[in-house]
Amino acid sequence: MPKLTKTGHNRYLLPRTGAMQVDALLFLNDALRSQLAENSVELQQLCDAAALPGVFGPVVGMPDIHAGFGLPIGGIMATRAHGGVVSAGAVGMDINCGVRLLATKIPADILDKPTLRALMQAIEKRIPAGVGGKSRHHRLCREGLEDALTHGARGLVSKGYGIRADLDRCEESGCLSGAQTAAVSAKALQRAAQLSTLGGGNHFLEMGIVEIIEDESAANTFGLEKGMLTVLIHTGSRGFGHQICTDYTEIMFKAAKNYGIHLPGKGLAACPTDSPEGSNYLAAMACAVNFAFANRQLITFDIREAFQEVLGETDLAVVYDVAHNIAKFEEHFGEKLLVHRKGATRALPPGHGENPVCYVATGHPAIVPGSMNSPSYVLTGTEAAKESFCSVNHGAGRVMSRSAAKKHISREQFMSSVGDVLLNTRNYKQLLDEAPPAYKNINDVVDTLADIGLTKITARLQPLAVIKG
Ligand code: 5GP
Ligand code: MN
Ligand code: MN
Repeated sequence: MPKLTKTGHNRYLLPRTGAMQVDALLFLNDALRSQLAENSVELQQLCDAAALPGVFGPVVGMPDIHAGFGLPIGGIMATRAHGGVVSAGAVGMDINCGVRLLATKIPADILDKPTLRALMQAIEKRIPAGVGGKSRHHRLCREGLEDALTHGARGLVSKGYGIRADLDRCEESGCLSGAQTAAVSAKALQRAAQLSTLGGGNHFLEMGIVEIIEDESAANTFGLEKGMLTVLIHTGSRGFGHQICTDYTEIMFKAAKNYGIHLPGKGLAACPTDSPEGSNYLAAMACAVNFAFANRQLITFDIREAFQEVLGETDLAVVYDVAHNIAKFEEHFGEKLLVHRKGATRALPPGHGENPVCYVATGHPAIVPGSMNSPSYVLTGTEAAKESFCSVNHGAGRVMSRSAAKKHISREQFMSSVGDVLLNTRNYKQLLDEAPPAYKNINDVVDTLADIGLTKITARLQPLAVIKG
């Protein structure tokens, strides 16, 4: 593996060596750099990705980087649309895992703890948390499934589960084209009855407060006002997307040799983008992307209903819905590329034509959660972010594995780290692997890019009540 070389402020390079076709570029401040071991798995994974055929450099590591299946989380790999490959593992297991932020006009300080608790309970009653949760929307999960897979959130809004403005504030307007259910296995379809369910561990529904506004003008456009209550939704395509990743990793792993592709391991199993295996994956991936958009849309519907029940209030406006595990065809550096973002968020600069119309002047919001008791950020991308294929980080990123967190974080540490944030789970042991100390310092992560002008901070949110998956 090449030596990690500092090339500028918060900027590092793994120069191309051996089988690598391109360099790997990393963004780290000094604190994050000191947490990253030389020869670590995540660095090796960037180098492996840089060796895939048709990769368009550099492969990029975000400041929230940590080891994943194949490509690291916090990794961006662009490949040539013609002559390049697609990798299911480089999108990730939870296809279109992403975040949706809702803004309210409810001053957070008028909500006392019993009211917040009542809101949590009204939400929990409707949206099951945890692995294998069962949806209450049986008909949508059966007769409505095909529509959800092909039309995503758009299908649900046309049935009355939301409003047109919700779609205007979603990446891809809540529906990625190219979805074909014929490319999805029966096993994956069997796992699709999970619309409006949260899923396990890292996923959450969170009520928070807009604590600081740094960019008044962008915050205005996004409908964010200091002191107001927000709701953050973090979930993806559940068992359905997971099964598609598993199926196609297997298919691509077996087929790669037919195309003369040498794979560094199963996690980066890849096939030519225009091969039957590659194009079928993209058609199935689009179904999972749409499933996740539909999932977050139906969750929004259920949360609006919960607010109606407790507060008589349904005015929860979608600020934005953005994927952080996805591959999309995009143009960068004058080339048509397939950009794999795994634990990375697209952040188009102001003026970019692919922004939603309402956000062309500011650039759309990128939503970056911190932890159950640290700030989350709303950011925008800048022209400088073209260097990272218009991408920014997706969170704080793990600094401890789940098992290490369970082993090393004491009860006292946990209690002091969560402060007085309300949590759905009573038994702290179930949350140790998600405790704030298991994550990197979100301020370090966000500042790393902001300091070198790749992002501009709009607002900072602070959690008040968290329903953990
Ligand atoms: P991932 O998609 O990689 O599982 O997680 C995205 C990011 O969400 C993590 O890197 C972490 O920074 C953040 N996160 C995890 N749990 C919570 C939570 O309960 N609340 C908030 N606001 N952020 C969280
Ligand atoms: Mn996620
Ligand atoms: Mn996820």
